[in-house]
Amino acid sequence: MPNHNITLKDVDKHSLIHPYTNLADHQRTGPLIIERGEGIRVIDQNGKSYIEGLAGLWSTALGFNEPELAAAAADQFNKLPTYHSFNSMATRPMIELADRLKDMVPISDGRVFFANSGSEINDTVIKLIWYANNILDRTEKKKIITRKRSYHGVTLATASMTGLEFCHGGFDLPLDRFLKCMCPDYYREGLAGETEEQFSERCADDLRKLIEREGADTIAAFFADPVIAGGGVVPPPAGYFEKVQKILKENDILFVADEVICGFGRTGKAFASDTYNLKPDVITVAKALSSAYLPISAAIVAPAIWEVLLSGSKKYGVFAHGFTYGGHPVSAAVALRTLEIYEERSIFQHVQSVADHFAQRIDSFASHPMVGDVRRVGLLGGIEFSPDHATKAQFDKSMNVGAFCSQRCQDHGLIIRNMGDIIAFCPPLIISESEIDEMFEKFENALAETWQMVQNYG
Ligand code: PLP
Repeated sequence: MPNHNITLKDVDKHSLIHPYTNLADHQRTGPLIIERGEGIRVIDQNGKSYIEGLAGLWSTALGFNEPELAAAAADQFNKLPTYHSFNSMATRPMIELADRLKDMVPISDGRVFFANSGSEINDTVIKLIWYANNILDRTEKKKIITRKRSYHGVTLATASMTGLEFCHGGFDLPLDRFLKCMCPDYYREGLAGETEEQFSERCADDLRKLIEREGADTIAAFFADPVIAGGGVVPPPAGYFEKVQKILKENDILFVADEVICGFGRTGKAFASDTYNLKPDVITVAKALSSAYLPISAAIVAPAIWEVLLSGSKKYGVFAHGFTYGGHPVSAAVALRTLEIYEERSIFQHVQSVADHFAQRIDSFASHPMVGDVRRVGLLGGIEFSPDHATKAQFDKSMNVGAFCSQRCQDHGLIIRNMGDIIAFCPPLIISESEIDEMFEKFENALAETWQMVQNYG
């Protein structure tokens, strides 16, 4: 195999292969090793402390050292450290967690299936929907629609749903059956003079035409991450989901809300489906379900789908799907305690109470000469760089403006994520107003240095 000009002395001596990392660059830089956590902060191997402005991977809600979750895990480890739910078996934590989730989500009388990650659960939902349509003898109704720039995971099927081309390159993806419609990014895709409502109408029209072209009887489901996060923090424009849901209903296409990031208070309400008045047939959750302390994910399916699955026993016998660790008792016990803490400490109300402050602070960057757009909801925000407010021009890619800013943030003790020239903020939900100030002060310093670099460039 070619070695991309890496000499052996450059090679990182650890044996770990890092996901979502430039493997060759990493050989030269090596890892940043995080040793421990304190509230919204993590501390590296040299004792340097960082505000985790992205809550890890958009995931921990309760911060990095919640003792109650450690205790819940320890209790369950001592009681029953492992068991499964195949062949009618169960453990108490998985049953209780399923009931609690069912009562929390905006789907009445749903049924709950567990997996271990966002990818696994979205992949599971695709299989459930295909299975259901086979039970109903709708064998052609299998295609899945997602939006460009959406993120749904990395398995063969969920990476095919993900609307980011760099996730497909080199992997022979996307697979057949996976279709894309427009990204509802009003800032980037909106036309001059077009209102947000008109833009939403154009997005809906794009979806309608795609369905007409392919034939509604070939399309099974539409998956949406209500706020696109990994693709650049894109909240839905005004009227968008209302129009989209109407089209889906008219065409008998299931609506799956991928709440892997948005679920559990991120947008200020329990689910983004509550924030945006969505009526999904299926909701998928992961990450903040256990405050990301242990791997666990779930799909909550509407009774109408459950009844079809139930009727499938006659046709297919055993429901032949499941993961060894799905609903693992220790993960489930931690998730259960997490949901209790959300309630006991009014975490979602806390998000609402600090969201205005977060909004004020992030909005204050909108007038900066290198900021084109600021987008946010709850405790999720994005800042898109542009050298020109009027034309929305983009910086020359070779300048790596977003990556530069992200590195400067890290130097100042703030971890955030840049997706190209978009900077994302998604702090742990327990963040206080003064910590929000501290986070944005660090960003402000990094931004000033980035602006300096831009002005001196070339
Ligand atoms: N869905 C959404 C909206 C996500 O943001 C992610 C991951 O960030 C996933 C699914 C995939 O989750 P995982 O990385 O746990 O497989």
